[in-house]
Amino acid sequence: MIFIGPPGSGKGTQAKRLSERFGVPHISTGDMLREAIAEGTELGRQAAPIMAEGKLVSDDLMIGIIKDRLARPDAAPGFILDGFPRTLVQAEKLDTIVGNDGEPLRVLQLLVPDDAIVRRITLRRTCSSCGAIYHLENNPPASDSVCDRCGAEVIARADDNEEAVRKRLEAFHRQTLPVATFYKAKSLLREVDGIGPVDEVFERIEKSLA
Ligand code: AMP
Repeated sequence: MIFIGPPGSGKGTQAKRLSERFGVPHISTGDMLREAIAEGTELGRQAAPIMAEGKLVSDDLMIGIIKDRLARPDAAPGFILDGFPRTLVQAEKLDTIVGNDGEPLRVLQLLVPDDAIVRRITLRRTCSSCGAIYHLENNPPASDSVCDRCGAEVIARADDNEEAVRKRLEAFHRQTLPVATFYKAKSLLREVDGIGPVDEVFERIEKSLA
């Protein structure tokens, strides 16, 4: 399954829940890149300045990462992709990676208008260790800056500032919306309203999958 949506639309939060519900891995390319940065790998060194600016990392690099990840045994029964594909080139390549075996991809697009995104993202906080996602008003950690799940520090992501968010939104409109059109043409796209409490959006997602 694939999640498409602008930054801050709730893809990560909802993908994590669905992954628990279906028992398949949640594969977030953004999380993978942030891990590479934290570990100081070559990939991390290449990706960090691009991400901080709100631009997209190259298709070649991303396709390589996802190909390796989907080849791991835990992804064999299924997977939830969050943040990939983000360009038409990536979507076309994904088709060749997954082939025609098994069930067809399900593609979910979370619809959230731009003005709501900027407000959401500037209040978003993320666990620096396990990636759990919080919102300072709607879903704050129980104890200030401490992750409820793992106790690590909860921080604002380097690219969760207004300037980078505007660039990320621009990249979404220009490069990722054509991906939604690509799947719509294949009758695989399910559009879900992403406005409202997390539980309500999750219910809508479950209904759209039924
Ligand atoms: P996310 O956590 O999904 O918001 O991704 C954070 C950043 O990682 C993006 O703004 C991009 O710079 C980079 N990134 C993540 N996934 C991709 C992808 N599929 N293609 C290109 N860049 C990506």
